[in-house]
Amino acid sequence: MPESLSIAERIVAMRQSLPSSVRLVAVSKMQPAEAIRDAYAAGIRDFGESRIQEAIEKQKQLSDLQDITWHFIGHLQTNKVKLVLEHVQWIHSVDRLKLLKEIDRLVKRGSPSPKLCLQVKLREDPNKFGWSVPELLGDLPEIATFDRLDVRGLMTIPPLELTDSETRAVFDELRQLADRIRREYGSRVEMEQLSMGMSEDYEIASACGATMVRLGRVLFGERPRSFAAGQC
Ligand SMILES: *Cc1c(COP(=O)(O)O)cnc(C)c1O
Repeated sequence: MPESLSIAERIVAMRQSLPSSVRLVAVSKMQPAEAIRDAYAAGIRDFGESRIQEAIEKQKQLSDLQDITWHFIGHLQTNKVKLVLEHVQWIHSVDRLKLLKEIDRLVKRGSPSPKLCLQVKLREDPNKFGWSVPELLGDLPEIATFDRLDVRGLMTIPPLELTDSETRAVFDELRQLADRIRREYGSRVEMEQLSMGMSEDYEIASACGATMVRLGRVLFGERPRSFAAGQC
C-alpha cells in the first residue's frame, strides 16, 4: 500500500480487499496509542500486541475506548500468563502443552478464560515457536480434556523466505489440519478459527480460508526503528 496513505485510508482499502468474513486484527505492537485511536476511528475493534506490559500501558491510555478486543500474539512465558489472562480476550500464540496446562491451572483458580488458538509450526524455523504436527496430534487427547479452556482454532506463521506457492502450501496444510482435528474430535476441540496471514501474505492466507488476519505494517507503516530490534 502507498506510504502516503493515512492509517484510516489504509484500513478502508484493506477492509474492501478482504472478504467480510475475515476478521482484521490490527497489530499495534510498537505503535503508539494514538495510532490505535486512528485505527479505532476508522472502525477497527481488534488489536494485537506481542508484549503484555506494552499492551497494559496502552490499555490505560485508551481506557475511554470500551469495546476494543485485545489479542495477544507474542511468545508467552509461563510467569506472565496470569497477567495476560487478565488483560486480553484472545491468545493466538499458545505454542506448547506446558503453557496450556498453566492457563488451565489459573482458569480453575478464577482467572478469565480467553479464546485460544494453538500455534503450529508447519516448517522447520528456528525463529518460531509452536507445535509440530506430530507433537500436536500427540498432545490433542490431553488438550481435549481441558474443558475449562476455550480453544477456538489454529494459528501459524510461515518462514519469511518462502515463495508464494510455498506459503500457500503452508496455509493449506493448516486448514487441512484443522479439518482433520474437527473430524477426529468434533466439539471436544473447537476448530472454527484459522489465524493466518500478515502484511506480506494476507492475500494468500485469505484465499486459503483464514478467518483472522494479523496485520501490522500494511496498516500502520513500518514499526518505529528504535523498538524494532529483537522484539518480533
Ligand atoms: C508482528 C506480528 C504480526 C504483524 O506483522 P506485519 O508483518 O507487521 O503485518 C502478525 N503476527 C504476529 C505473530 C506478529 O508477531
